[in-house]
Amino acid sequence: MTEIPASVAPPQRVLLGPGPSDVDPAVLAALARPTIGHLDPAFVSIMDEVRSMLQTAFGTSNRLTMPMSGTGSAGMEAAIVNLVEPGDRVLVGVNGVFGRRMCEVAKRAGAEVVPVQAPWGRALDPEDFRAAAAGRPVRLLCIVHAETSTGVLQELTGFREVADAVGALLLIDAVTSLGGVPVELDRFGVDMAYSGTQKCLSCPPGLAPLSASDRAVARIQSREQAPVSWYLDLSLLATYWLGKAGGGRAYHHTAPINMVYALHEALRIALSEGLEARFARHRAVSAGLRAGLVAMGLELPVSEAERLPQLTLVRVPDGVDEAAARRFLLTERSLEIGGGLGAFAGKAWRIGMMGSACTPENARFCATSLRDALAAQGHVVADPAAAMDEAFKA
Ligand SMILES: *Cc1c(COP(=O)(O)O)cnc(C)c1O
Repeated sequence: MTEIPASVAPPQRVLLGPGPSDVDPAVLAALARPTIGHLDPAFVSIMDEVRSMLQTAFGTSNRLTMPMSGTGSAGMEAAIVNLVEPGDRVLVGVNGVFGRRMCEVAKRAGAEVVPVQAPWGRALDPEDFRAAAAGRPVRLLCIVHAETSTGVLQELTGFREVADAVGALLLIDAVTSLGGVPVELDRFGVDMAYSGTQKCLSCPPGLAPLSASDRAVARIQSREQAPVSWYLDLSLLATYWLGKAGGGRAYHHTAPINMVYALHEALRIALSEGLEARFARHRAVSAGLRAGLVAMGLELPVSEAERLPQLTLVRVPDGVDEAAARRFLLTERSLEIGGGLGAFAGKAWRIGMMGSACTPENARFCATSLRDALAAQGHVVADPAAAMDEAFKA
């Protein structure tokens, strides 16, 4: 290398895609605080506060609640490799990208995977899991609570009963749901859940909050073989995050100290707003956004009953170049939205309204910018302003 590059100077964007979402300045400031040792008593206090705030956010009293190092997918992998042993039967709900990913992870963990399908853009029916079990024992039942690839919210009602009937543990992917819609692990009898920091918690990517019920912990303790992953072994991690049997904390791996500060700040912001108020904000802002999109004549493929407030799937009108519109938004408006995936690749946009990015101002900015992006391709649509004014007044 002949010349050392200048320090990075990323552009200021508005992040309204499927994640990462805009990070609150207070969270960015937390990242810049002094790095201290991972066994420093001051850091241990911060860890304990993070665990306690995560319990509140997850709606649980589960003792084994902590952030895993790594992004949401590390949480997925941790959950599966700790609960599954080779040969176990695992039922996975598949109606989008992340259900598919769970199948792949479970397969690599040696599970016999049985996908339970629903069309992309639709929710799953718990009774389909009962049928798929076919009267044979099941170790684990997996569902994605908020399918970010399609914008579908999966109701959790009914899954505990099916899990009990087939003798399985219940695992949910709460990566996009945590902080955006109620998660309530204890109420729905969920045994394990994992999340990510960069969706509705508005923190940079890098940690995967995870929570495990007593039943899940008992399952982990009764394993015949250690999990295939040493890094993600929850029994080992618990000796650091929760402490050793005789007290004190054991070194496992060096915690990403500054990311833990960031998560602490992001959780403080979410809980200070109040979870109910935060969920109501996500609902109200997305209702306003949708009113604008519908006024523009755009079609929203997910039915109202199954729509996720924090992610809206929008069908691309015939004759419009999906990727060119996103390019226009990024270069002309410094605004990021997502493209469709899988069954919706090239056919839809995904608009995120997550965490601190979920504001009426951003909803208006997004709708009017999308209108400009369509106009740039010669596709003229109605002005969404009046419909959005009306929706936000209500
Ligand atoms: C984003 C996401 C993941 C993966 O998280 P990464 O942070 O990208 O590893 C998993 N599940 C869902 C539902 C997601 O939205």
